Amino acid sequence: MKQSQLLIPTLREAPADAEVISHKLMLRAGLIRQLASGVYTYLPFGFRVLKKVQEIVRKEMDRAGAQELLMPAMQPTELWRESGRYDVYGPELIRLKDRHDREFALGPTHEEVITTLVAGEVSSYRQLPTTLYQIQTKYRDERRPRFGLLRGREFLMKDAYSFGRSWQELDDTYRAMYEAYTRIFTRVGLNFRAVQADAGAIGGEGETHEFMALADIGEDTIVVSENGNYAANLEKAEMFWEEPAASEEEVPPMNRVHTPDVHTIDQLCGFFGREASAFIKTILYRIDDQPVAVLVRGDREVNETKVLNALGGERIELAEGSDVERLTGAAVGFAGPAGLQGVKLLADREVQAMTSAIAGANETDYHVEYVQPRRDFAAALVGDFRNATEGDLSPDGSGALKFYRGIEVGHVFKLGTKYSEKLGADYLDEEGRRQTAIMGCYGIGISRILSAVVEQHHDEHGIVWPEEIAPAKVHIIPASVKDETQMKLAQELYERLRSSGVEVLLDDRDERAGVKFKDADLMGLPYRIVIGREAGEGRVEFKARAAQEKETLTVEEAFARMNG
Ligand code: ATP
Ligand code: MG
Repeated sequence: MKQSQLLIPTLREAPADAEVISHKLMLRAGLIRQLASGVYTYLPFGFRVLKKVQEIVRKEMDRAGAQELLMPAMQPTELWRESGRYDVYGPELIRLKDRHDREFALGPTHEEVITTLVAGEVSSYRQLPTTLYQIQTKYRDERRPRFGLLRGREFLMKDAYSFGRSWQELDDTYRAMYEAYTRIFTRVGLNFRAVQADAGAIGGEGETHEFMALADIGEDTIVVSENGNYAANLEKAEMFWEEPAASEEEVPPMNRVHTPDVHTIDQLCGFFGREASAFIKTILYRIDDQPVAVLVRGDREVNETKVLNALGGERIELAEGSDVERLTGAAVGFAGPAGLQGVKLLADREVQAMTSAIAGANETDYHVEYVQPRRDFAAALVGDFRNATEGDLSPDGSGALKFYRGIEVGHVFKLGTKYSEKLGADYLDEEGRRQTAIMGCYGIGISRILSAVVEQHHDEHGIVWPEEIAPAKVHIIPASVKDETQMKLAQELYERLRSSGVEVLLDDRDERAGVKFKDADLMGLPYRIVIGREAGEGRVEFKARAAQEKETLTVEEAFARMNG
């Protein structure tokens, strides 16, 4: 490849709207360009990386026994009504009508289409188990498309779906996919963790893991134990818990305390001279239209996913101010568990174990002290309703929990019969009885991987591509294209490397050497060979992009290195 003939429009400065480093570098290195919010063109070098990632994914999927197919992006929305997801999916689903007024959606995912396909084509136990996958453009009208390819509205995904005859078969496929994912993310060069994730109330018994690329700008918080054996998404993360011994302390009756202008936990701590852990936080929610109060210690945060799962609910939202006032009979900020009527009380187990706590009094400008769980209020449900915090012990005894930020690059999920039941994916077993197929689904954000890799592999000068997915392996740079000796040597080396199958880019542009070096650093090919003053003696300057030092090598040595 000759740089003078390629469209690699590098930029000195990143456009102002690019916030994160990967987005800036991908624009500056001439890999992508935005057409509309969350909609991008992959320029030739960006496309090369995308294809390499696809090839790795394809190889590992094939090796794991999955078969590739390609489904349409256009899906009749009837299928979404059948699966019950038409309304749940909401405005993220891009809908359109054909000339006959029939409604379609642009596929954000393909459970409906694949399950309908299998329902029609698979009828006997002999055809199972089977795993089918595709690499295809997906459409999601994300509320906040951002960070370049990290959260697009049109993006490339690998989605696989497995159909089996038993949970055991699903477990086996799940494990094979999990292992394939581990190989894929290792091969593309990501520093990642597989974490337990929440399957949601509708996920049923579904086990699920997310593969998280570690990065400060990641939108997910992941929780990992000291020795690394326990790793979970914050939504899911549990913590070690031991029921404390019952306190013998004699607690005086509850006492109302006038607390005007005391609102935040900090202010309360100052006013009462107590730690945040001495307070009960009472948070009011509306869960599937029922009012619910969740109690956590003053130093904790409610975990809404855990609350929702405990109640088997579908939607959780904070109660509005007017609801809080109506339910507590007080201004917002004075809710408490004692005397709260008409609201289901959920107490975090830490709250249930408190003695002599302080809480809101359900009366404007008042709190109560000496609140005693059980004596002064009865929780309908006691359980783990809080977020883990750093320093909590992991539930499996593998040490204190630490927090990291992650980018979700992949997701494996045991679906069970959620879709196969609704869409009729059943088969006849050995005894001729009708059975429902047991499904799993497995996604990888192919285009998102590019951003995640750049987020992890760069320095102040530009991208530092991992070799397996770099757009090319080596960048040959003649310092001056006007110097015949340099150009001749560069051309020869270029041709030799090319014919031995090495992916090589020759910077044959008539630019100043400094400009070319800057571009080379920005573009980040793993190796650079500069042909300069010593060209006459057959010597070149060799540097790995990730290394500090340059070496002087003979052309032969440089050639051998690149063929190693
Ligand atoms: P997120 O929580 O980031 O929105 P998701 O849970 O909606 O992800 P899935 O439906 O599991 O994602 O999709 C499978 C994979 O597709 C994800 O693991 C992620 O890597 C990728 N992905 C999802 N949404 C986007 C997007 N808007 N842009 C790019 N990649 C995406
Ligand atoms: Mg999403």
